[in-house]
Amino acid sequence: MEKRAKDSIFSKCIKSARVFFGVGTIFILLFLILGQIIFPDERDFIFAKCEVFEAQWYHVPENGEKVAVEVPGKVEAEYGEKITLVSTLPQGIYNGENLCFRTIWQDVEIYIDGELRQSYNTNDSRPFGINSAMRYIFVDLQEEDAGKEIMYRASSKSKYAGDIREILVGDRIGIWIQFLQESGARTLIAVSLMMLSMGCVIVCAVVRIVYKKRLAINYLAWTLFFGALWMISEIEFRQLVFKNVSILSSVTYWCLMMIPITFVLYINEIQNSYYEKIFFVPLLYSTLMTVTLTILQFFDIVQFVEALIFMHIGIGLAVITIVGTLIVDTIKRRYADYFLAGIGVYGMLLATVLEVVLYYINVDLSLGTVLAGGLLFLFVMAVIKTGQDLLRSEQKKQQAILARKAQAKFLANMSHEIRTPINAIIGMNEMILRENDNKVIEDYAYNIQSASDMLLRLVNDVLDFSKIESGQLELVEDAYNLAELIQDEILLLKARAAGKPISIKIDIDSKLPTRLWGDELRIKQILTNLLSNAVKYTKEGMVTLKAFFSRIDNENIVLEFEVIDTGIGIRQEDLSKLFDSFKRLELNKNRNIQGTGLGLNIAKMLVDLMHGKINVQSEYEKGSTFSVAIPQRVIDNQQIGDFEATLKKNRVEKNTAENLFVAPEANVLVVDDNEMNLALIKGLLKRTQIHVDAVSSGIKGYKVSRKKKYDIIFMDHMMPDLDGIETLKMIREDKNNPNCDGVVIALTANAIAGCREMYLESGFNDYFSKPIQADKLDELLIKYLPTELVQRVGKQE
Ligand code: ADP
Repeated sequence: MEKRAKDSIFSKCIKSARVFFGVGTIFILLFLILGQIIFPDERDFIFAKCEVFEAQWYHVPENGEKVAVEVPGKVEAEYGEKITLVSTLPQGIYNGENLCFRTIWQDVEIYIDGELRQSYNTNDSRPFGINSAMRYIFVDLQEEDAGKEIMYRASSKSKYAGDIREILVGDRIGIWIQFLQESGARTLIAVSLMMLSMGCVIVCAVVRIVYKKRLAINYLAWTLFFGALWMISEIEFRQLVFKNVSILSSVTYWCLMMIPITFVLYINEIQNSYYEKIFFVPLLYSTLMTVTLTILQFFDIVQFVEALIFMHIGIGLAVITIVGTLIVDTIKRRYADYFLAGIGVYGMLLATVLEVVLYYINVDLSLGTVLAGGLLFLFVMAVIKTGQDLLRSEQKKQQAILARKAQAKFLANMSHEIRTPINAIIGMNEMILRENDNKVIEDYAYNIQSASDMLLRLVNDVLDFSKIESGQLELVEDAYNLAELIQDEILLLKARAAGKPISIKIDIDSKLPTRLWGDELRIKQILTNLLSNAVKYTKEGMVTLKAFFSRIDNENIVLEFEVIDTGIGIRQEDLSKLFDSFKRLELNKNRNIQGTGLGLNIAKMLVDLMHGKINVQSEYEKGSTFSVAIPQRVIDNQQIGDFEATLKKNRVEKNTAENLFVAPEANVLVVDDNEMNLALIKGLLKRTQIHVDAVSSGIKGYKVSRKKKYDIIFMDHMMPDLDGIETLKMIREDKNNPNCDGVVIALTANAIAGCREMYLESGFNDYFSKPIQADKLDELLIKYLPTELVQRVGKQE
């Protein structure tokens, strides 16, 4: 879409609206805040009275003299003793006025003029415990109560037995408004902390499930959660929000017990468990304490409220160990990993100290607000740290992916570069083998052949391995003839075993379907590896190849192969390492057996890619059985039948195809920047009498192709300046070129999966992979040369 002109009237309007939004918001907020501070209080609380009840109270001990007491204050009282206080209600009481008492772990009864007006006792509603939880108690007053005696009786089986807290008088609404003003800020902070912590816990859970990653901040979020819950349970409103205050009271203590545990776990995580031996102490203490106190409380042996000191010790131990490790880390400059979180912890500790100082200056000055601020600061720092960590790990992951891709590309390029000269060596050596009569030189050439074959296999393995590792290897699935596949493998097995005292047994299920759908080449690669290993690691005896199947449904089977040998076997303890990359077993014993330790690893990766299974069973020094099961689609359900017969029939057909031919009238052009390759193809085609033109660049190839009609053009892919694909495109598009519709075959050392499709899509008629094998070249020539030009000359002896 075309971008609109930047300074159009609409974009100017949008810009102005943005400025207006900014200025407007600042104005509204300033108006609200400054207005509240500067302008007078308009609230009318005539019907919302709340004052401290100032009357004189007397303690009346049983059978004793009345003694005047200070309220709030404390009178002498035994554990569980009922204390009685009396006072006289003032004149001028109006209907609906209330007295508000704050109890502390006490059962309470309030009488006016001898009549029980209010009682508080949670005996029947609490799950455990011997005292009633802290609560505010309201007593409704009537006009006629003025001047009457009020009696307050309280008892507690705790150290608070004789405590009397401040008494308020006023309307209920007035008293609640008073509470709201006192605790509004704390409530807001506590609720916000709780919501923040829950949000964080949810995010951590999602990250855990989706990304399988454990975030340390989860522990801090729980610390915050317990802290917030503790704050909420200390707020005056708790009896409005929670219907069973006894339950909430117990939870408060559990919060206090859990806070040091979750906090230490958090610090331990961000310090990468460096001090886990030290943190073991507070963790063990807090855990044992929590379990013990809970049991004791359940059976009412020791009350939580009496065991507060142990909870404080738990928090103290946690703080001491945390501060200690932080100081050591700060001195030793080991904080790089958790710098921000460390600052957060220091901030929180500072807030704790400030909270304590404020508490001693004036009890009501902070009431946990500063501490909560400290916690919030720590939490924000921890969130930033977590964000940074996640970002860093994501960056690392990306870098690793890029590095892997670069590595795969490098290996692909290298293998291409290495394969080119190896191909030349193999090709030239092939010429020597063909044209040489000297026995000694022939032996040398056979040695070159075996060494260069090995080298080529190694390069191919490394390339495959890196491709699969970086997820770039794709299966190339097509219909294939199963009998041919097995036959090729048998031929290979026989060739490998030739010269060794090994007999070969073939056991093929005659009911196997003839045509299947799958990646024939890769299945061959797996089998070739297993069969070569069986021969390699067997000195004498037998190698068996079994092929059979189990049916999934009419269209699908699980194709199974077993390669059984009577070789050196594998130790039980080595079996699990067998499919590891570059792992070779018993190197001292197998030193003279060539191998890379990659073959089985690649086989396993390929089998996995095909959703199959590979297994091994082995008895040391007796032999091994490798079994492979791969699901395949059936194209033709016709049965293979007697495999030996099929094999013989195929061999006859193949031999016919192998008959030699000449084609003196045929013209072939070879385009390759590698002179050695040109010489090789020329050499290989010599006996066919085909006329070969060879040029060493794409441009030359294009020029030559304009002048003469060729029956086949072999075109290398990777060439400097103009590559094979570009050259082909020029030929195809040039309608005056006599070869614009001709047969052009890609000739390449490129061994990447899916490249066959790539060449066919680019307009090539076929694809021919180097190293150039003489028989394959013959097959291609017979396939693509006009039949009238090909003259069969009979099989050469
Ligand atoms: P290599 O190229 O070394 O043969 P592989 O990955 O194919 O690599 O095999 C890994 C190791 O497993 C071999 O080095 C050999 O120790 C052991 N091994 C594989 N096949 C057999 C077998 N049929 N019998 C005994 N040992 C085997």
